Parts: sequence; C-alpha cells; structure tokens
Amino acid sequence: PRGAVRRVVPAKKPPPLVVRAARHGDDAPADASARRPRLVDPSNESKKRAATAGAKDIPVETCVACGGVGVVECRACGGKGTLAAGGFHAKNHVDMANVVGTNWTAHRRTKGWRHFECIGKSPADKANGKPRASVHLAATCDRDVTVWVDVKELKDRTLWSAGWKQREDLDWIGDPDQPGGAVAVPKPGAPCVACDGEGRVPCQRRGCVNGAERVRKQREVIERTERTFKKVIKATR
Ligand SMILES: [Zn+2]
Ligand SMILES: [Zn+2]
Repeated sequence: PRGAVRRVVPAKKPPPLVVRAARHGDDAPADASARRPRLVDPSNESKKRAATAGAKDIPVETCVACGGVGVVECRACGGKGTLAAGGFHAKNHVDMANVVGTNWTAHRRTKGWRHFECIGKSPADKANGKPRASVHLAATCDRDVTVWVDVKELKDRTLWSAGWKQREDLDWIGDPDQPGGAVAVPKPGAPCVACDGEGRVPCQRRGCVNGAERVRKQREVIERTERTFKKVIKATR
C-alpha cells in the first residue's frame, strides 16, 4: 500500500471501503477499456454519434415498439378498425384485475335493464365448487338492481357488449314487446372496440414517452364521455 493509506492505519482502522476505492481508482482505465466491446450496441452507434456531434434534441432512446410515434397497430383488428361480419372478436375482453368500474350492455334485457356497471367480483374457487370467476353488475339506472354474471358468460359476445352501447350501435332481433325485449347482436362491420375504430392504439411499451402521453389523453376522453353519458341518463329519468 502507498503512504497515504498507511498513515491512516495507526490512528484508527480505515473502513475496508476506503482501501478498495483507492485500488480501484488505479485500475479503472484498464478495466473500462477491457469492458468496452461488450457495452457497444451497434444499433445505437449512429444515434450516439449524432448526439455527440451536437444534435442534442435527437432522443438517445427511441421506443422500439412504435419507433417513438406513440401508436402501434391495433392487434385486435389488425389495423382495420372494424369488426368483420359476424364479429372477429371471439370474446369480450375481461381484465379481472381492473373489471370493477367497467360498463357493460346486456343483449337480452336483464332484470329489466340493459346498461350495467361492474361493482364487484368473485374469483373462481374450484375447491368449493365454483369453477369460474364471476362479476357483480349493477343496473346503471337503478343501482339496487344487481346481478352476478359468470365471466364466461360476460365474455360471450352474443350476450354482452363491452361499454354502454346505444340502440343504433347494435343490430336487433325479435320483438321489443316480448318479456325479454328484442335481442341485440353486434353489427357486422362495427367499429373495433379495442381501438374504437381507429385501427391504432397507444403504444403501451414501458418507458415509451409518447405512448404514455397518448394513454393519458385517451383516458381523459373516456372519462369525459362517461360523465356526459351519466348526466344524460339522469336528465331523462
Ligand atoms: Zn412506443
Ligand atoms: Zn382495433
């Protein structure tokens, strides 16, 4: 060891960290050059060069999922924005983690109502004879009217639509004056529910700045729409 380190020793034992740090300081240049080849990512080289050349506004990290634009093709409809005749979504998407608060339209009048909101959920409990998860739905216009629906049934696109669908959003079969009323079926060529007919969805990749901004904006629009919708319902009651 060199003098600087040794002089500290008699006074009090130097913490091992100090000694190690000094040694590493000497080793650092050789160490770094030995490691460098592994750290180089060829795809980033041109960007790095541009950045060091003074173009500071070029982002060093570009989202690989969307190329930085913040949107990707909707996988549900392949970017077409519409459902094929008969509905290419085999099933409604039910995300059990976030299902409470989601809105649903019953294709058959259910306890007198068609528009529901999920207010609770119950997981599957196979040991106790409950093979599948279920959700608790409350009628939007009468919160006292609730119904438990098997998730398998909720996923069935011939029985339920995700969101609050209006009369013109769906096709109808049968007689509205019958006890169950007319039965709704998804319209062929209806807008894709996953992307709202846009054919593109916000990029969800972690760390995608533009994607996160689009997700945030989209959420704002949805919340505003639902507030308006609830007001309309109240006014027409
Ligand atoms: Zn992205
Ligand atoms: Zn789509």
